[in-house]
Amino acid sequence: MITNLDEIAAYAALHETENQSFQLFLKTQNAERTDEFVKVLNERISPQIDCTQCGNCCKTLMINVNEEEANALAGYLHLQRSDFDERFIEKGMHGMMLINQIPCHFFKEKKCSVYDYRFAGCREFPGLHLPHFIQRLFTVFMHYNRCPIIFNVIEELKYSMEFKK
Ligand code: SF4
Ligand code: SF4
Repeated sequence: MITNLDEIAAYAALHETENQSFQLFLKTQNAERTDEFVKVLNERISPQIDCTQCGNCCKTLMINVNEEEANALAGYLHLQRSDFDERFIEKGMHGMMLINQIPCHFFKEKKCSVYDYRFAGCREFPGLHLPHFIQRLFTVFMHYNRCPIIFNVIEELKYSMEFKK
C-alpha cells in the first residue's frame, strides 16, 4: 500500500491511460457487485490510513456549506452569521455557499480545528461507503491522485475485479 502523497501523485500521472480504461471497464460492470467490492476494500483499507497524518482533502477540497452548518459553526466561533459569512463564505447561485479558501481556513497544525462542527462534505469524504460508486467515477477519480484511501481502494479494485491492465 502506498500512502506517501508524492508517490501517489507520481504513480497517478504515469497511469492516466490505465485509469481511463479502468473507468470504461467499470461502466460495463454490475453496479451492486461493484459497490460490494468497494465497500469491502474501503472497510479494509481506511483503518490502515491515518487521516491525521494526511489532511490532503482539507488542503484541496472545495467545501459546500448549508445554512444549518453555517449557523452552528458561527455559534461555536462566537461570530454573528454576517461576520462568519464575510470571513469564510463565498456565495453562488441559488443560495449555494462554499468555504471561500483552499486550503480550508479551519485546517490548522495538520488537523481540523472545528472537528465537531465540520461540514457534511468533510464527514463523508472520500465517500467510498456510499452506494452507486459507478455513477460517481468522475468525482472519485478526480481525487485518486491525492487521497491515499481512494488511491489504494482503486488499485486493489483493479485486482479484485480482474481488470486486465
Ligand atoms: S480522506 Fe483521503 S485525503 Fe483526506 S485525510 Fe484521509 S486519506 Fe487524506
Ligand atoms: S472544516 Fe475541517 S474537515 Fe472540513 S475541510 Fe476544513 S479543516 Fe478539513
